[in-house]
Amino acid sequence: MAENVFDKILAGAIPAPRVWEDEQCIAIRDINPQAPVHVLVIPRTKIETVDDVTEQQKGLVGHMTWVATEIARREGIADEGYRLVWNCRRHGGQEVTTIHLHLLGGRSMKWPPG
Ligand code: 5GP
Repeated sequence: MAENVFDKILAGAIPAPRVWEDEQCIAIRDINPQAPVHVLVIPRTKIETVDDVTEQQKGLVGHMTWVATEIARREGIADEGYRLVWNCRRHGGQEVTTIHLHLLGGRSMKWPPG
């Protein structure tokens, strides 16, 4: 499995300040933010796409969702609301082949997404 940018961030080879860190995942600010708050929650376990999450790993996905909600509260965007996004493969717009949950907030979001 080829190393990608998130593998390097997890290994500390590329610097990225962590807004969250625990035994299961880290969270960093997106380098190209699409909203005033744009944070990526990344698991320490390598999983390529959300479609590859196994039944044994579903707790990790739940934990990552809870982490994103906790960060949203800490960032002060929870009361107004925010968006959580999993991009999956080509049609989902996934660029980095390691699962990551986008937390976007601090502005009003549009629907449908592009
Ligand atoms: P995807 O399109 O795969 O769902 O999202 C990948 C995200 O990673 C993009 O929003 C992109 O801006 C972000 N990203 C790519 N390279 C880096 C990096 O080196 N550092 C950080 N913090 N974010 C990155």
